[in-house]
Amino acid sequence: MKISYQNFISLLLFIFVFGSFTACAQEQDPEDREWVPEDTEFYEPVPPVIEAQGGFIDPPSDATVLFDGSDFSAWKSMGGGDVEWRLNDDGSMTVEPGTGDIVTRDDFGSIQLYVEWRTPEEIVGEGQGRGNSGVFLQRRYEVQVLDSYENETYVNGMAGSIYKQYAPLVNPASPPGEWQTYNIFYEAPEFDENEELVKPGYITVIWNGVVVHHRVEIQGRTLYIGPPDYPAHGDDGIRLQDHGDLVSFRNIWVRELDNTPVWGYYDD
Ligand code: MG
Repeated sequence: MKISYQNFISLLLFIFVFGSFTACAQEQDPEDREWVPEDTEFYEPVPPVIEAQGGFIDPPSDATVLFDGSDFSAWKSMGGGDVEWRLNDDGSMTVEPGTGDIVTRDDFGSIQLYVEWRTPEEIVGEGQGRGNSGVFLQRRYEVQVLDSYENETYVNGMAGSIYKQYAPLVNPASPPGEWQTYNIFYEAPEFDENEELVKPGYITVIWNGVVVHHRVEIQGRTLYIGPPDYPAHGDDGIRLQDHGDLVSFRNIWVRELDNTPVWGYYDD
């Protein structure tokens, strides 16, 4: 078949115009897009399973104890009322499904937060429906709590993940029914007077004594659907999630971190 010069130019023009159009379509504003939960769920690479049972730490003398098993005085429900979770005889608390998340009465900025948690010994459900809870820094940024012992789910939603942002580097999950530890170093994000982000948050997580996040940059608020965003906020409470599963917590303490660097040399 012979193509005339004119037709050839028209064809080139068509390819150019159509190509630009589809390129524009791909770069559309995320806000215009219809997001579904699966868009932000990733299954690979799977963090290697390792054995680790450790990291148990009693509160140091300068820590603020948020829960020692005696009462819920440091906590309230998200709506502001009293906590309706179960206070157990063994010094722990357990989610009372349907009563909602709980949050500390005090607000915090950058902190070291230590939490012990346990998923139910009896396995109920699978994936995200097995031992789901969560620790939210400043109410917004979730370190996932889940039974991740031989339980497949998207890796950026397993235990130890920064939910829908980062999978843990390894999977040191203990079997269901065993106590596990989170030692979290959290640097709060900073916003200017125009509510623009000037410094993102950073987080380091030690799970069962093993580093699973090493100062990763928090991408924004934890969202189930769509990419994270970063609305401005100030100090806020630490929140524990009621996801309908009988997850327990004990020995929770916090140390406030001063962002001012301390220099180890003399300035003369
Ligand atoms: Mg959760």
